[in-house]
Amino acid sequence: MAWAERKGKKRKNRLYLTRRTFLPLDVWLPVFEAPMLAGTKIWNSCVWESREARTRGEKYPTEAGLKKKFRSYASWKQLHSQSAQAVVEEYFEAVRSCARHRKNGHEEMRPPGFKPKDTLRTITWKKQGFEYRDGRLLLKLSRKLGAVEVPLPEGSDTLTLPDGTVLKGVPVEVKVKAVHRGKRLAGLELHVTWDFGTVPVIPADKVSAYDINAGIIARTTSEGGQQLVVCRELLSLVQYRNKTIAEFQQKMSRCKEGSRRWKALLNAKREALKKLDRRIKQMTHALTKFMAELDRAEDVAFSVLGDLTGIRRKARTGDKNKKASQKINQLPYDQIRRQHEYKSLMRQVCPDETRELHSSTTCYECGTKNRSFRVRRGLWACRKCKTVMHADLNGSGNNLKNYLFGHCIGLKGPVRLKGPEVYRWDKRLNKFVKVSPRAA
Ligand SMILES: [Zn+2]
Repeated sequence: MAWAERKGKKRKNRLYLTRRTFLPLDVWLPVFEAPMLAGTKIWNSCVWESREARTRGEKYPTEAGLKKKFRSYASWKQLHSQSAQAVVEEYFEAVRSCARHRKNGHEEMRPPGFKPKDTLRTITWKKQGFEYRDGRLLLKLSRKLGAVEVPLPEGSDTLTLPDGTVLKGVPVEVKVKAVHRGKRLAGLELHVTWDFGTVPVIPADKVSAYDINAGIIARTTSEGGQQLVVCRELLSLVQYRNKTIAEFQQKMSRCKEGSRRWKALLNAKREALKKLDRRIKQMTHALTKFMAELDRAEDVAFSVLGDLTGIRRKARTGDKNKKASQKINQLPYDQIRRQHEYKSLMRQVCPDETRELHSSTTCYECGTKNRSFRVRRGLWACRKCKTVMHADLNGSGNNLKNYLFGHCIGLKGPVRLKGPEVYRWDKRLNKFVKVSPRAA
C-alpha cells in the first residue's frame, strides 16, 4: 500500500451495518404502540404549525422553535427527548427535500402533509436514547415512562471477517418500524445500526477500477484483468420505473388535484413504485455483491468506482445531450455506491473513488484524447494506435489510470490487458454466470 500512503490516500474504512430483527406483534405492539402514535402526533403538529403560519402570513417556523414549543405537549412526553426531536428533524428534512425537488423541476412534489392518526410512526433512538449491555438493548422513553428492554439475537454485535478477525460492534442508532403486508400490519422491526470500527483491509496494492454504465459494468484491474458484467435487467427495470412515473403523471394531470380520483392514482403510483424499487434494490444488491466477491477472490486491496456525482451535475446543466443525461440519470448510483462501500469493507477490500475525467474519450493504450474514437456506444477504435476494444472497458482502464496517476490523457496503458471475461445475469440461477465474450 506504499503508493497509496505516498499519495495521501487515507481512508477511514469505518464499517457501519444495519441489522434487522423482527418483533412479533403480540409481544411488542402493546409496548411500542403509544410512543409510535405519539410520533405521528408530533409530525402532524409540525404540519399544522407550518400551515397556520402560512395562512396567517407569519414567518415560517424554525426547527428549534418547534422543538421548544412542543416540549410541553403530552405526545412529546411519551418519547425520549432525542426521539421526539428526531421527528421534527425528519419533518424539516422532508420539507427541504420537497423544495429541492421542486427547484429541479418536479412541480408535482407535494409538501409533507398530515398522516392518519393511527399511523405507527418509525421511532428513532440516538446515542443518548438507549443503552446496550450483554446482547440487550435498553430503549429509553420519557423520564416518567422509563425504558423498554429488547433482547437481540445471538451474535448481533459481532462480525467475522474473511481472515478470521472478529470485530465487535457498538450500536449507534436504533429504529423501530412498522412492517405492512398489503394494508395489514404484519409486525414491528428493530433496526440497529452497528459501528464495527475500522476494518483491517488487505495489505497489498492491487487495484480494480470500475466504469458503471446503464446496463453494463466494466472492470479493469492493475493485474490486467478485464471483466464486463452485463446487467440489462437492471436497466430495463429502471426504464420501466421511469415509464410508470410518466404514465401516472399524465393521468394525474388530467384530474383535479386533491380529488378522489387524483388521490386514488397517487396511491396506486406509490404502490407500483414500491414494488419496482424493491426489485431494483435486489438487483443492485446482487450486482454489488458480485463485484465485491470478484475483488475478494483476487485479493484486491482497492476497489475504485468512478466519482459519478460530477457527471450527474454535468448532465443537469446540459453539457451532455438530452438522451445521454436521461441515460445517466437512470441508474441508482447512490444505492450502488453505498452497497459497494459496505460490501467491500465486509470482505476487507478498501472502497474508493476516482474522478471520471476524460475516461470515456481517451485511449487506454496510447493516451490520445479524441471523442470520435468512440465509434458507437459499445466500441472504442483508436485511429492512432489501432486499438479496438469495448468502449466501457476502455473507460474502466482510464479510471484505473486516473486513480493511480491522477490523469489519463497522454499516458500509455500501465498494464497489459489480458482480454475480457463476460458475465451475464442468469434469471433461472438467480446469479451472474460467465458467458463467451462474443455474447457481449
Ligand atoms: Zn490509442
